[in-house]
Amino acid sequence: MSKLQTVKGFADLFAPLSGLYTLMEDTARRVFGAYGYRELRTPIMERTELFQRGIGAETDIVQKEMYTFPDRKGRSLTLRPEATAGVMRAYIENNLHAREQVSRFFTCGPMFRYERPQKGRMRQFHQLNCECLGAEEPQVDAEVVLMLLLFLEEIGLDGLSAEINTLGCRECRPTYRKALTDFLRRIDPATLCEDCRRRVEINPMRLLDCKVPSCREQTDGAPQIRDHVCAGCSAHFDTVLAILDKERVDYILNPRLVRGLDYYSRTTFEIVSASIGAQGSVAGGGRYDGLVKDLGGPDVPGIGFACGMERLALMLGDKESLLPRPDFYFAVLDEAASDTALHAAQTLRKARLAGEMSFGAGSLKSRLRQASRSNAEYCLILGGAELEAQKVVVKHMDSGEQAEIPLTTLADWAEIRFEDKMERGRKGGCR
Ligand SMILES: [Zn+2]
Ligand SMILES: [Zn+2]
Repeated sequence: MSKLQTVKGFADLFAPLSGLYTLMEDTARRVFGAYGYRELRTPIMERTELFQRGIGAETDIVQKEMYTFPDRKGRSLTLRPEATAGVMRAYIENNLHAREQVSRFFTCGPMFRYERPQKGRMRQFHQLNCECLGAEEPQVDAEVVLMLLLFLEEIGLDGLSAEINTLGCRECRPTYRKALTDFLRRIDPATLCEDCRRRVEINPMRLLDCKVPSCREQTDGAPQIRDHVCAGCSAHFDTVLAILDKERVDYILNPRLVRGLDYYSRTTFEIVSASIGAQGSVAGGGRYDGLVKDLGGPDVPGIGFACGMERLALMLGDKESLLPRPDFYFAVLDEAASDTALHAAQTLRKARLAGEMSFGAGSLKSRLRQASRSNAEYCLILGGAELEAQKVVVKHMDSGEQAEIPLTTLADWAEIRFEDKMERGRKGGCR
């Protein structure tokens, strides 16, 4: 029989990597929660039509990258390739705009795209998403950028900066698009890549974010949208930038930061980290004031972002030290001591300490090796002699200091350890 394997582009996440994902999710809940974002868990599967309408039937995602298949009754279903469309669907379906003026959602979980797997890009990947619906004020845009930066700092990334642009609105973008198209038509098509030649007439703004060097060279002098937006869009963008200045955010204006779809409007942004080079975008988002309406909902504005967790995990890499350290390793040397040890370890867990216990008999040397491998702070040792004396040896793994304590006082010892841990946590000395 052949060996069972995962599907190509799908991966098992073992510890400590899985712990990094937990850390990212916990931090996201805490930081985004501090801004009033609450978790929404949408299904990972939706009707295909949602993505055709919510992402755009002409996009690469919908055309080439979706996991789409008929269910047993022949209805076309799709594993979600992104989170926003599902959140919009939930918002509209449950009439949330009638209940609250502003809705703030945080989601996290797996997404699916049929792409060529490569380092940091899997067919099942994971995202953290935030969406804020119902507020059009520029303060919201600035707050979203600040919140995202704070989250990235809190998980331990540094060298962060923002790239930001405005895309105008449905009123002023056509004027810009015309100016851009006029400029692009004067370019010799032979100097453009195949995609760009096609896009000149159908989606001229996408030429600005083409990565092909010759295309970039040709579009270097292209008209910039900021010079063409209406007074409302201009004032909105100025306010966003003024807040970012005041909060000392490191940002650059990037006129090439565009999005292909009509419902994207006004502020668009990406966060880049110096630690992964020039292509180092770790998160991106922007305003999509027309999307809810396009999907058959009320005409409410929206803004959001997505943050790829595989990318973040890659950058956090070896930071295993970010993960919580076990409080103890319970080393049982003698099988006769097993039941007593199990009860003692249970006492520790009830006092909210965490650690594993060894089973069966084993030498002190091998047990200490296991304790060290588990990175526990203390090793508790219980063998035949200790059992006889109703005591346990407690060894501090870093200093090597050890003491004997009576089993009857173990709960008190555990309580002190727990308080000590909380105190260090408050001081930021131990995560
Ligand atoms: Zn405008
Ligand atoms: Zn191109």
